[in-house]
Parts: sequence; C-alpha cells; structure tokens
Amino acid sequence: MPGTDSNPRSPRSPRTDQSPSTNRTRRTTVLISGASIAGPALAYWLHRHGFAVTVVERAPELRTGGYKVDLRGVAIEVAERMGILEDIRRASTDMRTGAYVNDDGERIATLPADIFGARTGRDDEIMRGELARILYERTRADVEYVFGDSITSITSVDSITGRAGEEADDLGVEVTFEQGAPRRFDIVVGADGIHSTVRRLAFGPEERFVRHLGAYISAFSLPNELGLDREELYHAMPGKLVCTYSSAGDPAAKAFMIFRSPRLRYDHRDSGQQLALLGAAFAGDGTGTAQTRGWGMIPRMLAGAREATDFYFDGMQLVEMDRWSRGPVVLLGDAAHCASPASGQGTGMALVGAYVLAGELAAANGDTAAAFDRYEAEMRGYVEVNQRAAEKFAKEMTAGSRGAIRFRHLMMRLLPHMPWKDLVAKKITEDVQRGANAITLKDYPVAAGTMGAKGAPSAGSVGATDRGGATDRGGATDPAVTADMAVTAYGAPVPAGPPYAA
Ligand SMILES: Cc1cc2nc3c(=O)[nH]c(=O)nc-3n(C[C@H](O)[C@H](O)[C@H](O)COP(=O)(O)OP(=O)(O)OC[C@H]3O[C@@H](n4cnc5c(N)ncnc54)[C@H](O)[C@@H]3O)c2cc1C
Repeated sequence: MPGTDSNPRSPRSPRTDQSPSTNRTRRTTVLISGASIAGPALAYWLHRHGFAVTVVERAPELRTGGYKVDLRGVAIEVAERMGILEDIRRASTDMRTGAYVNDDGERIATLPADIFGARTGRDDEIMRGELARILYERTRADVEYVFGDSITSITSVDSITGRAGEEADDLGVEVTFEQGAPRRFDIVVGADGIHSTVRRLAFGPEERFVRHLGAYISAFSLPNELGLDREELYHAMPGKLVCTYSSAGDPAAKAFMIFRSPRLRYDHRDSGQQLALLGAAFAGDGTGTAQTRGWGMIPRMLAGAREATDFYFDGMQLVEMDRWSRGPVVLLGDAAHCASPASGQGTGMALVGAYVLAGELAAANGDTAAAFDRYEAEMRGYVEVNQRAAEKFAKEMTAGSRGAIRFRHLMMRLLPHMPWKDLVAKKITEDVQRGANAITLKDYPVAAGTMGAKGAPSAGSVGATDRGGATDRGGATDPAVTADMAVTAYGAPVPAGPPYAA
C-alpha cells in the first residue's frame, strides 16, 4: 500500500512520564483507530496510566446499533475496575424470558432469559451501543476524539528521516488521514473491528487473517409491533434463525436474522448490497408460499431492516493471527482476534484486552515491544478458548432440518420436568463460563489524579477499587436445562450433539 510502512521497526522506546527510569516529561502519545468497545476502553485505561490519547473513528458519530451483548466473568471484573459496572446495571437489557415460536407465532416453550444467555452470578447483558455510549461518556473529557476520519498510512519516522537508534525512537510514527493533516504518534492501536484498516496497513490484506464460519448475521431496530416487554422470541428454520425482542427502556424492538451460507462476495461498507443478500436468504419465508413456510414476522423483519438506521450485517468470522503487533502498531479486540458473535465473548474480550494492553504498556516503562509481548502472552489462552467455543457454537446456532427443529422444540418443552436437569445446567454454564474466566487479571498500578470528573477512582492499584453495589444473580444455574442443550453466543439454548446437531 502506498505510503504504508511495510517494515515498521520494533520500538524500544518511547517512554512515558511515569517511568521511574527516565526524567523525560513528554507523555507517550497513542492513536487508537475505532471508537466502539475496545478503543474507548483502551483510551480509558491509557489515560489513567498517564498516556496522551487520540481516538479516530470512521463514522461521523458514535455508532449505536448492534445486538445485545453479554458481559461475563472477567469482563465484569474489568467493568468494575473501570467504575462502570453500575452504569451497565442501569442500562441492562433486563430481559425476562425467551421463547421459541412456531410458524404461527405461537410460543412453544418459554424459559427464563438468563438460561438463554447462560448468565450466572454477576453476568449481565447490555445493548452494544449502550456500552459504547457509556465508554465514550467516561472518556470524552480526557481523550481527544476525531469522528469522520480514517487512517490512510502509518510510517516509521526514522524511515522518513533516515535517523536511527535512540534519536529515531523518540520520533515515533507518522500517520496520514483521509481528512485531517498528518500527525505523529508514538504508538498506533487498531481497535477498528473485524475489517480493521490498521491491520490491513500494518499486516496485510484481510483475507489472510479472517476465517468464515459458514453463517451471516444481521441486527437492526424495528417497530415493536408485537408489544414485547423484555421478551425475546426465536424462530428456527432449516439453516436459519431469526429473533425479535425488546429490552428495558427501549420503545423499539430489535431483530436479528442468521442464515447459513458459504462466504459471499460483497462490500462490507455497502448496506444496500447487504440488504439484498439478506432479502435473498429469506426470500419467500413467512409468506406461506415457501416450501418451509416460516413465521409471518419474517417479511416484516426484512421491511424493518430496510427502514433501520442502525442496520448491521456481517459474517460469523474468526480473526486468526500469529502476532498482534508489528513495530509500534498493535491490534486490539475484534481487529486482533474476532471470535464472531457465536462466541458470546467478543465484547468481553475487547474490554479485558484493553485493560491488559494499557496495563502492560504502563508497566513496561517505555519498552513498548516488551509490553506488546506480555499483552499477547496474557491474552492468547483466553482468546484461544473462546475462538474454539465459537467454532462449535456457530455450527449449533442453526438446525439443519425440520426434524431437528421439532426435536429442539420438544426438548425445550420437557426441560423443566427432566430429572437430570441440575447436572446438565451445570455442564452448560461450565462451558460458557470456562471461556468467560479463562484469564486471571493482574493488578496494574495507576497514577493518581488521572481521570476527569466523570472518570473512575483515580489512585492506587487498579485491582483495589470499590467492589460494592453489584447485583448478584446468586451464581445459580437454572435447573430447567437438559443434556441436549448447548448455549450459543447470542444466547438461545439449542439442542446439540448427535444425533440432533445441525
Ligand atoms: C455498529 C456495530 C454493530 C455491531 N453489532 C453486533 C451485533 O449485533 N452482534 C455482535 O455480536 N457483535 C456486533 N458488533 C461487533 C461487536 O461490537 C464486537 O465484536 C465487539 O464488541 C468487539 O468490539 P471492537 O471494539 O473490537 O470492534 P467493533 O465493535 O467492531 O468496533 C470497531 C470500530 O471501529 C470503527 N472503524 C472501522 N474501520 C475504521 C477505520 N478505518 N477508521 C476508524 N474507525 C474505524 C467502526 O466504525 C467501529 O466503531 C457490532 C459492531 C458495530 C460497530
């Protein structure tokens, strides 16, 4: 790519003003690409550690769309350390129940919503856009946000000037933008999602790192025609799953539609093309004319997708990379290790990764390369567990035949009456919780007085913040789940395993 540094050097500095080993006063400057979850979370922690942070977001304003996302295990711990757990509780979807409906929209089996989401203990669920808003509000006073722009090149300054060694290390990288003037930073972070521009510029084309899991998902708002109140309704067809739900405090309903498909060719920034693909995948469904018929809500969902201002569409995909950093450039969240919506841990991993990356940068006293190594060492196992789970869940999200779907419905009806339900409930939540807790958080000391009025407690060790006030679900596993159920990322428990697997 023209203007791109094809061989960024491995930086030994820059240094921060927290470094006890240096008397320099210049703060390390960090440019983060992407203002969704990973980017603002990293900005929060970097600011607390004394770095000077700029976030550039391609969208003209904060993007608020998306599905509801679960925060589980260690991610809840990070949210607590950030002081945003109460904000998350207040914005919780507070879902009550989930049900499967038949072609006529009749509820076949209803279960508590926490069963659908495999949530235990302090786990919670929030709309992705709400979490992005909380993180943005937490950081906007202390961090420079630039909306409506995108990085076009990242070049080591020493390769421009020809300088080498210590002197060159202090110069950092030169970054050019689609709109703004070129600027210099010490570190560039790609938190710009599965289609990361930073990854493409520093590591190579997307195709080298993205693996398709065989399904597509779309999410969007639509009118709450069914008058749902914190209830989610699922409808399964062979190779397809749709859902509509309403969450607490939202007068609109939301929908998501999943369909199995080999990789499709389309422009991921062209919603017109994506709507056409979605329409083709569900053509005739719910109209009474398709061979498999389907729920009459499906055409209304498709109409809702066309009207929506927050339409989201993407593949179920994994990002798999040998390294997440190259010279002064490092990747975070989906850009580094997307686990697909099937994992149910993408948002949690973005939050946790932000905490770890910022903590390691602060702890490294300017040795950026060492910080990046430790960040990867801390995160790799956690990511691995969740990516493997995503592969499994992605297969189980949709049933392959009408017979499998009928069996699924039967199992859900029988659930509450089955004698071995406690054992199975434990097994299911164990699977999900293993991924959610597959990392132990270190405590990274933070400098005092590093957050603005809206920020978190500002002194001491990051692990030592107030832990009070959280609502505990009691760690209970609901007994109404059986051995033939698996819990998928988006939340719905489905019958799994031979001979019922899709
Ligand atoms: C609008 C939206 C809706 C989503 N809906 C769902 C959903 O329904 N279900 C689900 O499981 N996951 C969804 N996701 C993905 C989910 O948010 C992530 O898997 C997870 O939260 C990890 O977040 P992230 O910050 O790493 O990446 P993302 O949430 O993907 O955020 C990446 C951010 O980078 C921005 N960006 C992209 N390219 C550039 C660029 N060149 N320059 C600057 N900024 C750039 C994007 O606009 C976005 O704000 C959605 C993401 C977005 C952006």
